[in-house]
Amino acid sequence: MGLVDRGRMPAPLSKLFNMGRSYSMWVYQWGLACCAIEMGAAFGSPRYDVMRLGVIPLPASPRQADLVVISGTVTDKMAPAIKRLYEQMPEPKYVISMGSCANCGGPYWDSYSVTKGVDQIIPVDIYVPGCPPRPEALLEGVVLLQQRIKMEDMAAKWRGDEFTPMPSSKRAQERAAARREAIEANREPIVVGGGPIE
Ligand code: SF4
Repeated sequence: MGLVDRGRMPAPLSKLFNMGRSYSMWVYQWGLACCAIEMGAAFGSPRYDVMRLGVIPLPASPRQADLVVISGTVTDKMAPAIKRLYEQMPEPKYVISMGSCANCGGPYWDSYSVTKGVDQIIPVDIYVPGCPPRPEALLEGVVLLQQRIKMEDMAAKWRGDEFTPMPSSKRAQERAAARREAIEANREPIVVGGGPIE
C-alpha cells in the first residue's frame, strides 16, 4: 500500500483495486421500519441471490462494513446511533438511503420526532425512492454504487482529497483533466430511477 499512501497509484492498479472493492462489498443493514422488510428480501432471500452481485450481506459489525443501507424512519432519538455507526465504519465507506422515510422523512415528514432525511446526519451516495421501494430498486442502487466505485481515484481517496496532482506532459495532462471531469460528475449523489427522492 506504499504507492497508495504516497498518492501515486498507477491507473491500471487503481482500476484493479476498484474492481476488487466493488465486487466484495460487505453491507451492514440498518433497518428501522417497514422498508427493512424489503431490504431483508433483497439481501436475504434466494430469489434475489445478492451474492451473485459481489455483495456480502452480513458483516459482524460496522467496523467490517464497506456499505451501510439505512432503511426506514429515522427518528431524532435514533440519529446519534446512526452517526456513531457511520463513524465506526472504516474508509472508504458508502451509504445507501432506502425509502422515502430515510430520504426525506416520508409520510412522517411533519412529525416532531422524525429526522427529515438521513443525509442531515451522514453523507448519502445513493437514494432509493419509494414507500417502500421494491427489492429490485435497492439492488439497482447497489449496482449504481459499484459503477461509481469503479470510477474512483483510489490514491486521492486515501489522501482525503478527490484528485491526483496534474502530471507534467501535455498528453498526460489532457488525460488527467478528462479523468477529473469524470470524477467530478461521479461525486453527486445518485437517485435510483432519476426522479425525486420521495
Ligand atoms: S418509506 Fe414507507 S415503507 Fe419505508 S419505512 Fe417509511 S413508511 Fe415504511
